[in-house]
Amino acid sequence: MQIAHRIQQISVSQSLAMAARCRALQEQGVDVINMSLGEPDQPTPLFIQKAAQQAIADNWSHYGPVPGISSLRQAIAKHQNAFDGNAITWQAEDVIVSVGAKAAIFNAIQTIINEGDEVIIPTPSWVSYGEMVKLAGGKVISIPTTAQENYCLTAAQLRDAITSHTRLIILCSPNNPTGTIYSDSRMDEIVAVLWEYPEISILSDEIYNGLTYGTTARSWAYYTDLAERLIVVNGVSKTYAMTGYRIGWMMCKNTSFIAACTRLQSQQFTCATMIAQKAAEAALTADQESVSYLRAEFQERRDLICRLAREVKGWRFVEPHGAFYLFPDVSAIGNGDEVAEMLLEKAHVAVVPGSAFGDPSCIRLSFAIGNEAIIEAMHRIKTALA
Ligand code: PLP
Repeated sequence: MQIAHRIQQISVSQSLAMAARCRALQEQGVDVINMSLGEPDQPTPLFIQKAAQQAIADNWSHYGPVPGISSLRQAIAKHQNAFDGNAITWQAEDVIVSVGAKAAIFNAIQTIINEGDEVIIPTPSWVSYGEMVKLAGGKVISIPTTAQENYCLTAAQLRDAITSHTRLIILCSPNNPTGTIYSDSRMDEIVAVLWEYPEISILSDEIYNGLTYGTTARSWAYYTDLAERLIVVNGVSKTYAMTGYRIGWMMCKNTSFIAACTRLQSQQFTCATMIAQKAAEAALTADQESVSYLRAEFQERRDLICRLAREVKGWRFVEPHGAFYLFPDVSAIGNGDEVAEMLLEKAHVAVVPGSAFGDPSCIRLSFAIGNEAIIEAMHRIKTALA
């Protein structure tokens, strides 16, 4: 059977590939600790599970509006408006609900990018942005950021990367895989450059903004003058431990963009699962105690893994202030691919090589596993590397 050229050019997500290898070893009876996954290990809070059950009982089992159930869109707008680092006033009609943040990002890129358009992506970055840009016919312009700059793009780097073909920049703060957050002053500097280029849209992936430790992450929606060309993406996957529900969204003040993207979704999946939408609405409209709990738990794990990782010879890292990943530079020991392979084979700890995120000198460890598992994994890693 023929496989289309555009599909042949995309690679499989390396983090999902590592998770599959890990599962295969576990099925053979090998005791592997999986630090490759990008999801909370905790169960979905009970009140959200109950809301999903209630939605089934209430027969939320028919097609719904393409951009999402109106009450959920209202809840999303209200939720974002309540966020400290946000200044744009979002309305329900600015919101499109999608099948996870992944589909929101995919559709936003498809809606904006023409063949040959350039998309700036600071790296290390989430595995899927580049593949999605390629699928839309766009050209990925990766800009390597450094540990010295807290893995954040500088204004000078941005200015140098912009050409007459640049149409989009994708920013993610807190970042996957580094867990770093843009400072307010760095954001001001970046925005000062973007003001000179009104043809460039900004896609801000804020999927981890509910999981920050000792700080908050300002949204790019702090800059009201960007409203007409800013797309903010978020979802319930990470903050509410709802990865399998597949509910994410995008928000944009540009009505042409919203109409175009809604058209795309209408020909693609019609609407996100109605039952999951009702569960997401329950998550957003309840008191946010479960989020505070998750955040506190991850902060404790972040502290634990950083303490143990400082004892590993040859590792250097920037302490993450958000998300649930540690991204050590292991180049003093070897290339990230080799180290990841060795840790799986010898220590039975699955991590993702940094090359998946555009930085082959690093590896990514998820600390969204229990404290005991973190202690055991770090012990195995230290022993194997010694
Ligand atoms: N954006 C980033 C940075 C992510 O790490 C992920 C998931 O790993 C997503 C988006 C996708 O989230 P969702 O599960 O809502 O599709």
